[in-house]
Amino acid sequence: YSPYQNNGLSYKELTEILLETPRPEQAREWQQYYTAGPHLAGKNLSQAEWTRDKWVDFGVESGIVDYDIYINYPLGHRLALLEEAGDENDSVTEEGRRGSVEKIYSNINQNGKFEVKYECSMEEDVLPEDPTSGLDNRVPTFHGYSASGNVTAQYVYVNFATYWDFEELQQANISLKGNIAIAKYGRIFRGLKVKRAQELGMVGVVLYTDPQEDGEITEENGYQAYPNGPARNPSSVQRGSTQFLSVAPGDPTTPGYPSKPGASRQDPHHAIPSIPSVPISYKDALPILRALNGHGPKAEEFNRFWQGGGLGYKGVEYNIGPSPSNMVLNLVNEQEYVTTPLWNVIGIINGTLPDEVIVLGNHRDAWIAGGAGDPNSGSAAMNEVVRSFGVALSKGWKPLRTIVFASWDGEEYGLIGSTEWVEEYIPWLSKAAIAYLNVDVAVRGSKFSAAAAPLLNKAIHEATSLVQSPNQTIPGQTVGDLWDGYIRTMGSGSDFTAFQDFAGIPSVDLGFGGGPGDAVYHYHSNYDSFAWMENFTDPDWTYHVTMTKVWALLAAALVETPVIAFNATDYAVGLDMYLHSVKNLTASSPHESVGSLPIFTLLENAISRLRNVTTTFDARAAALACKINDGVPWWRLWSKAQLYAEIKWVNERYKCLERKFLYENGLDGRSWFKHVVFAPGIWTGYAGATFPGLVECVDSGDREGVERWGRIIEENINAATRSLE
Ligand code: GLU
Ligand code: CA
Ligand code: ZN
Ligand code: ZN
Repeated sequence: YSPYQNNGLSYKELTEILLETPRPEQAREWQQYYTAGPHLAGKNLSQAEWTRDKWVDFGVESGIVDYDIYINYPLGHRLALLEEAGDENDSVTEEGRRGSVEKIYSNINQNGKFEVKYECSMEEDVLPEDPTSGLDNRVPTFHGYSASGNVTAQYVYVNFATYWDFEELQQANISLKGNIAIAKYGRIFRGLKVKRAQELGMVGVVLYTDPQEDGEITEENGYQAYPNGPARNPSSVQRGSTQFLSVAPGDPTTPGYPSKPGASRQDPHHAIPSIPSVPISYKDALPILRALNGHGPKAEEFNRFWQGGGLGYKGVEYNIGPSPSNMVLNLVNEQEYVTTPLWNVIGIINGTLPDEVIVLGNHRDAWIAGGAGDPNSGSAAMNEVVRSFGVALSKGWKPLRTIVFASWDGEEYGLIGSTEWVEEYIPWLSKAAIAYLNVDVAVRGSKFSAAAAPLLNKAIHEATSLVQSPNQTIPGQTVGDLWDGYIRTMGSGSDFTAFQDFAGIPSVDLGFGGGPGDAVYHYHSNYDSFAWMENFTDPDWTYHVTMTKVWALLAAALVETPVIAFNATDYAVGLDMYLHSVKNLTASSPHESVGSLPIFTLLENAISRLRNVTTTFDARAAALACKINDGVPWWRLWSKAQLYAEIKWVNERYKCLERKFLYENGLDGRSWFKHVVFAPGIWTGYAGATFPGLVECVDSGDREGVERWGRIIEENINAATRSLE
């Protein structure tokens, strides 16, 4: 009996099932279900149960794993532009006050009389063409983990509110402290915008989506807005979390351990804002931005990198401000904080090998009723993946390795469901996990995109070459043929983070993103809906099916290939590249001399030793794979026992290689992040930093830190090298 052969179905039979089973009409049906009503974190139990029951129907043992998490739900909000009204009395008018907001003008000069110049609607338009935009129980616009507050202050336009934008504002002596920031979404994770504003003493943050972010597809360029065309609906609002992602994801009261009932709780304020923030549409931003015209420098004159935005044609001159003292914003945010259950659905197919596990995950919670792109295109694809593997099981397939399927809750607030689960199961995962395959937004456009740990590069390329693209302008072309082949490094912003950065499990994040000519994606807005998906993005649901197949085939390769489908040389090549980019960074930084520190030579040597070893190791693995695959009866060449022992030896080393890059004490000032090669950029969030510990010390000219981190990384690389020798 061989664990590596005779698994009920041949690999070819299995992959045929995985390519033939997924159906567009099924993907559509799952989408219809998930996008029919609100499913915020902690408010989607019926969807968790439905998902579990479906997976059980498909033949996969499944259950619900819950955690008690600390999160907020919206109560009320207001944003109004107020102007001092000369000396007339009783001129304060208040229109459109909403929710339970009672107190306004609390910290404005009590002697001043202010009148409302503009009251933001704070609501997205109800569109008859898009039924879920008009549900009675639709989710208000708000920020996850935002602070309650009621502030009235002058305001400043701070571009994208990046760390670097704020540096420039400070250098130019623009007054920030005590003022409210209005900023464009984009470039970095939104929570880090609020974090920096707070650190600089600002009292509130308003975030809006500027059509500048929409490329060519704008009303200014003559495209009609949704629902009549592909451009952005001017009333659309991006909700989203403002937790400080690059500090630690997960429940902010339980960093590093699971939020089980009764778990001890810490003060969350290292990880979430204490100043209020609200998201608004560009329609609501217009009067506020126009009121800054003529006040303070104009953005592009101030700094040639700022370039205004996309509302110039609507009369916005993009002045920085601050607004004059008779022109202020009243920002009110009321949030209810609760500790409440959240539900992950976990399915499992046990493999023959007990200690080798592949995890596939997608989140189920959405900010809005819809969520057709984010995340339920991924949830529909996941159901089709589970169904396909279920069909294989029903035909007698017995997988070599164990597969775990996860439908996460609470991703949107801060990757909560996945992080708490990894924190709970870390002992088992450290021992057994081979890879984590994430799909968040499976479809928001037509351009295939991937981020991954380098060990997985080869397997991803392979999987994309086996699946036909929905785009058959050239008959027979595959997803791989239409892809530029570029694989981004892992940053953050989705559920792979705890796997990759906390547990050292090589991870991948796949999806079809926006390509040239694709309709504008209404991210975290009511218009990320079933109607938008069907009318503007995937009318025949073929991109959903294609994502299903790529995901399933990648999983199948990792589950079934006797020698794990990794390539260690790609890791060494990656490290070499990352080190070069750190050196380039030193060359262009004010702290140039750190680049000549001897530690860089030591690191280069360590990487080149690793590279020699990985080349030999991969060759040995490939030779082994041939012995099994090339049809030469292996028992003529090897004894069974010898072959199994050799495969096991190789696989054990591939499996643990990523773990060698963990550093127990974690990164400086954010010890939850344990990986020395990959982390979210401390001031970017989404975009990854490579060698984060080292880079942060280079950035600040900390020579001692550069040497310390250099030695830590060198030790990690050497441990990886030793493990493969
Ligand atoms: N994917 C979500 C977002 O980008 C959540 C990210 C997070 O909070 O870590 O808003
Ligand atoms: Ca936790
Ligand atoms: Zn998502
Ligand atoms: Zn999202």
